[in-house]
Amino acid sequence: MHGVGVSEGITIGHAHLAIHDRLEVAHYLVPAAEVAGECARFDTAVQTVHAELEGYRNAIPSGSPPEFTAFLDLHLMILDDAMLSEAPRRLIETQRCNAEWAVKQQLDALLEQFDAIEDGYLRERKADVIQVGERVLKALLGKPGHIPVPEDLEQASILVAHDLSPADIIQFKQQQFAGFLTDLGGATSHTAIVARSLNIPAIVALHQARHLIRENDLLVVDGTQGVVIVNPDKHVLAEYRLRQDQWEIEQHKLKRLKTARSVTLDGVRVELYANIELPEDIEQVKDNRAAGIGLFRTEFLFLNRDGLPGEEEQFEAYRKVALEMGDLPVTVRTLDVGADKPLLGQERNSTNPALGLRAIRLCLSEPSLFHTQLRAILRASHYGKLRILIPMLSSLHEVEQSLHAIKKVKKDMDEEGIPYDHDIPVGGMIEVPAAALSVHVFARKLDFLSIGTNDLIQYTLAIDRTDDSVAHLYDPLHPAVLHLVSETIKGAQKAGIPISVCGEMAGDVAMTRLLLGLGLRQFSMHPAHLLRVKQQVLKTDLREIAATIRRMLKTDEPQKLRDALVQLNA
Ligand code: PEP
Ligand code: MG
Repeated sequence: MHGVGVSEGITIGHAHLAIHDRLEVAHYLVPAAEVAGECARFDTAVQTVHAELEGYRNAIPSGSPPEFTAFLDLHLMILDDAMLSEAPRRLIETQRCNAEWAVKQQLDALLEQFDAIEDGYLRERKADVIQVGERVLKALLGKPGHIPVPEDLEQASILVAHDLSPADIIQFKQQQFAGFLTDLGGATSHTAIVARSLNIPAIVALHQARHLIRENDLLVVDGTQGVVIVNPDKHVLAEYRLRQDQWEIEQHKLKRLKTARSVTLDGVRVELYANIELPEDIEQVKDNRAAGIGLFRTEFLFLNRDGLPGEEEQFEAYRKVALEMGDLPVTVRTLDVGADKPLLGQERNSTNPALGLRAIRLCLSEPSLFHTQLRAILRASHYGKLRILIPMLSSLHEVEQSLHAIKKVKKDMDEEGIPYDHDIPVGGMIEVPAAALSVHVFARKLDFLSIGTNDLIQYTLAIDRTDDSVAHLYDPLHPAVLHLVSETIKGAQKAGIPISVCGEMAGDVAMTRLLLGLGLRQFSMHPAHLLRVKQQVLKTDLREIAATIRRMLKTDEPQKLRDALVQLNA
């Protein structure tokens, strides 16, 4: 089964299914004389839930993550809000309905309002309102507020639930479940946040897990990949036990590197940045102590939705990242849609979409789209240390047009008196061979460069990165690719501007020494790879690898290159 892995790691154990009571709510009229009594019944239920939540709050074991108290406070706040603690009483009085029905009606009305919220984090708080509302319903129906767990449950059980509330998880903290699986939830759901803070592998959004998995089924949970294997055969099981052991040993070692400075054995400093797709990814970035954001793929704010995010919504997203990262730089890449990332309703029938109207080409052909994004980025630059990065540049003309657009937006904002960072650096991505061969020209106009190796390899080798049938030809070690990467790094150094690599190559430890040897000092990667790459940096002596790198650059035989890479990493 596939879901969204929200807390990394591998765990193996037997399933325990959380009893999921569907709350059947009856609707009946209350005689006029009993309305006051019904209101009192509702008040008592609210007080019971209040006492329950307070009880959990007071029983939080010392040393628990601070999120626990915060979540219980949030649930108490939701419960105390007049929308939940008073509005149903008015419904009982005006409609003369039973208390359960009043709570249900009020809950439905509240949830409808949540669906209209654009901010992903706030929208996910809908789950919290449901959880608190359901607690009140359970109190009215005389059902226990907690999920019952048998006393003799084995320690390494994996909890499978339709949904879990923070209070449930606190209850389960003592139970020491080895993993959590839920049908509902997203990356910022509380189950996700708490599971991450507990360091327990967890997968959410599995849709049918609670329905399909049976009590005591043997489960392999791979929280890194978001995969659950139910009743694996003995070969799969043995493979995962091995992976689990390796993962745990490795994690233990890596964690100690969080605070280590990232320098080579011979004392050269290397900056390790993170790639993000949404503001929510910041938590993982901070946890791995990245030096900043080297690539914010802003198109993820635009995908899978009807309509485009407006200036205000974009501004809030960029400002959030800027504020959260404080003094650390945040590189915001302008919209890279088209090719394999079309906007909804804009799937074009182009014969070669990867060579079509994509990234900066699309932005320059849709000035209002581009201007809206530039305004949002510039406005957010007032709140942190932002940099603008332009994707898929292939000619000087595009560089000039992009700079012109930025200048125009700045001028408008000056006239309107809107504050922004007047010195915001503007950089370009080197992802097309033509750009790699024009580094000296680009470098004169831009403040920094970033090599997008994913596309540079695709365009250099003429291999569609989304086409399985040519995937085996996709080769980061191809002499032509190495040559372009090496020359781009040299070109930027000669021009005296910073250069980074932000494609997958930067997060691949097998490539770390090679890139260091080519002169790269800034890497940007998925935050999950950061400590592993740091470990490799710490083990590298640039003087020792120099001769092998020189040899690799002179070789044009693929096999010799591969052998040399093995030697480099030995
Ligand atoms: C790249 O092409 O290497 C890159 C970082 O951009 P994306 O993967 O988003 O195309
Ligand atoms: Mg790219």
